[in-house]
Amino acid sequence: MAMTSQKRVHYFGRTKSEGNKEMKTLLGGKGANLAEMTSIGLPVPPGFTITTETCAEYTDIGGKLPDGLVDEVHSNMALLEEETGKTFGSEENPLLVSVRSGAAVSMPGMMDTVLNLGLTDKAVDGLANVSGSRRFALDAYRRLINMFGDVVMEVPHHKFEDEFDRIKDKYGVSEDTDLNEAGLEELITAYKAVYKGSTGNDFPQDPYQQLEKSVEAVFKSWNIPRAVRYREINEITGLLGTAVNVQTMVFGNMGDDSGTGVAFTRDPSTGENKFFGEFLINAQGEDVVAGIRTPQNVDEMVKWRPEIYENLLNMKRVLENHYREMQDIEYTIEKGNLFLLQTRTGKRTGRAAVTIAVEMVVEGRITQQEALLRVPANDLNQLLLPTFDTNAERDILTVGLPASPGAASGKIAFSADEAVDRTHEGESVILVRKDTSPEDVSGMHAAAGILTSTGGMTSHAAVVARGWGKCCIAGAGEVVIDEKNRSITIKGRTFGDQDIISIDGSSGELIAGDMPRMEPKLSEEFKSLMEWADSHRTLQVWTNADTPQDAERARNWGAQGIGLCRTEHMFFEGERITDMREMILAENEEERRVGLDKLLPHQREDFKGLFTAMQGLPVTVRLLDPPLHEFLPHEEHLQQELANRLQVPLARIKARVIQLHETNPMLGHRGCRLSISYPEILDMQATAITEAAIECRRNGIDARPEIMVPLVGTSKELSLLRKQIETIIQGVKEAKAYSDELDIPIGTMIEIPRAALTADEVAQHADFFSFGTNDLTQMTFGYSRDDVNSFLPNYIRHEILERDPFQSLDTRGVGQLVAMAVGKGRGEKKGMKMGICGEHGGDPLSIRFCHQTGLNYVSCSPFRVPVARLAAAQAAVKNDAGRD
Ligand code: PEP
Ligand code: MG
Repeated sequence: MAMTSQKRVHYFGRTKSEGNKEMKTLLGGKGANLAEMTSIGLPVPPGFTITTETCAEYTDIGGKLPDGLVDEVHSNMALLEEETGKTFGSEENPLLVSVRSGAAVSMPGMMDTVLNLGLTDKAVDGLANVSGSRRFALDAYRRLINMFGDVVMEVPHHKFEDEFDRIKDKYGVSEDTDLNEAGLEELITAYKAVYKGSTGNDFPQDPYQQLEKSVEAVFKSWNIPRAVRYREINEITGLLGTAVNVQTMVFGNMGDDSGTGVAFTRDPSTGENKFFGEFLINAQGEDVVAGIRTPQNVDEMVKWRPEIYENLLNMKRVLENHYREMQDIEYTIEKGNLFLLQTRTGKRTGRAAVTIAVEMVVEGRITQQEALLRVPANDLNQLLLPTFDTNAERDILTVGLPASPGAASGKIAFSADEAVDRTHEGESVILVRKDTSPEDVSGMHAAAGILTSTGGMTSHAAVVARGWGKCCIAGAGEVVIDEKNRSITIKGRTFGDQDIISIDGSSGELIAGDMPRMEPKLSEEFKSLMEWADSHRTLQVWTNADTPQDAERARNWGAQGIGLCRTEHMFFEGERITDMREMILAENEEERRVGLDKLLPHQREDFKGLFTAMQGLPVTVRLLDPPLHEFLPHEEHLQQELANRLQVPLARIKARVIQLHETNPMLGHRGCRLSISYPEILDMQATAITEAAIECRRNGIDARPEIMVPLVGTSKELSLLRKQIETIIQGVKEAKAYSDELDIPIGTMIEIPRAALTADEVAQHADFFSFGTNDLTQMTFGYSRDDVNSFLPNYIRHEILERDPFQSLDTRGVGQLVAMAVGKGRGEKKGMKMGICGEHGGDPLSIRFCHQTGLNYVSCSPFRVPVARLAAAQAAVKNDAGRD
């Protein structure tokens, strides 16, 4: 059972405020910030928060409100009545409250909200009296029955909708707001009937019953599938549950001097320091977020109520000065009075994160170190996202709201499930919906991009897509979706589920057909952040690259060397694969050498290209690694083609394929074992490397090759191969009459557990170690890296593993081997250079571990180099600050 502190309810109001922004774990983000804002004097309607611990308790005791909670709620309601001068359920001046969820980590739209609690047949008269509008009171009541029925009692939402449509028809109106009092009275009666029909009970006339059931519904909603799925996708683990916030209602729908809105204190897409948001006049809270009506830009507010706009700008200053961070706020204007209902750290795109962090340093609000920690390293990927080629013709169909940047093309998917299925089948799809709801998250996640026809910049689709850095256009009102016939029509042009559309999330343009894409241009703020990262980090960042183009790109992004050139990739190029196959088919060494002689000049040119691209920086060339069968064709018609080309009998090819077949090729004839069996392959590669280096140097290019032996498990393998490599290098130097200094360090990958366990012995023959954590993970866990997905999702779901160990290093297990090898290796050779070149070299969490373990560099794919630079700086800053 979860531990609980005695106090389950924390009040916030003028009389006292029992929380603060540091109490997110206990009060949830919303609750902690409501208390904080109250304390600093901002206009927050009073209320109280029930702790996340209580949610855990609720679950632990089998889904019941724990003893004593109801009493505590009652005494806090009494405080609230005292502070507001209103009475819960009163027929004269009723207190109404909202009930909202709020976990420690914000989960947009994932949990349910109930507004106007406390309205009953009697209290509705009270509300009519005090508000001076019976219509308003009735409207509030019908909303409560609907929300309470739908959210708390699970009455199907459409049953209410159907009644609403029927009554609107009867009264001849199309907008909700046009229904008169008589219509609303009739609607309430109809809603109550729907409620009773579905639940078997009358709509509760005891306001405390409404409140208790709502609190319970919030607790329950913590574990509904869509919430669980959202946490899974976003890797949110370790939370107790959700808090419940009960807060005095303020109304944005009290007429034309009322309204409600959502705003960010800076632009969450670009990061520009400009108040950014939307509002709806005469509307209630959820209308903006739900994306039902398309709201107005907050800039328009100047025309409506300049003094309120000024007031909002002032709150932006107060909030940013206090929180030193961009805030995302919800506000309501009730009869000209502004109230803040929520503030939280605003979600933002990677681009905005960089701009805001850098500008806040320039503004003197935060330090460079804080700025470095504010940008999630993985979010830099978004800045490196492609855009559509600006020179390409655009057949623009319409322009919606640029909700989340990026550029995506794909076929049209009409539902979330369809998006998931078609993506799994290998299609690129754009999920096209009127609007999205939390149920759609899986499909949104799977799709290449999202397009909605209603909703604003703060609608569910926009907020969720931005959080993921997924391209999204929202509110493209001209897109008419016909789900039944599986088509969309824009200004008379119709597209079906097999047609490709393109969406530009930065401009909001919807474009017909596929579009060529372009590499991104990096901002000045990005460059500043990267400079700061470089000045704070101690880990070097290298790259895994096999072509001069990749090497150049990585170098432009700041790579300080090549940590892994997988030479096998070079053998698939053009004609070379045939020479390679000929070599593999050879029946003796002599024949093999004939094939290798053909490959040598190509290899030499490859290396010259790489050395030139990386001149002055180390280039670690790994000797051939994969089992040879991978280079031979396995399908009969391809084998026949090869037989024809090489003029050899088909049977010979088949026989060789059978001969090379292995039951466990990953544990088989690969890596350095190939060099031991076929030393001539190593000879060719070492010759090509040395010749290329000499030719480059003679041309004034500072080539710095290093040779790396893969899959070493015993020191003997390495000592033998090292001697052979040294002999070749020496031989080439002599043959080329090269007498200048040319030091080619020879090292090894540590990717077999035994190599790590005996790293002291291995180190005697190695100039450096590079941890091949892909294989090391495979062999430590005994999970096949190619087939792990058959069971991994299940393992994650059952929390057997916290995350995929092939993406993020298992520091407790595999990490121990790494740390041991570092210790043993350096024990043998002080200061020995050590790096990592498995996929983990580009993963921020793993990079942190590499920093702590004392590696010299991480090597990752070119695209991830900026991510790794930032992650390395974050590791250094966190370590210096003694933070976890
Ligand atoms: C590794 O095993 O981590 C590695 C980098 O080598 P490869 O992925 O080529 O096996
Ligand atoms: Mg490997």
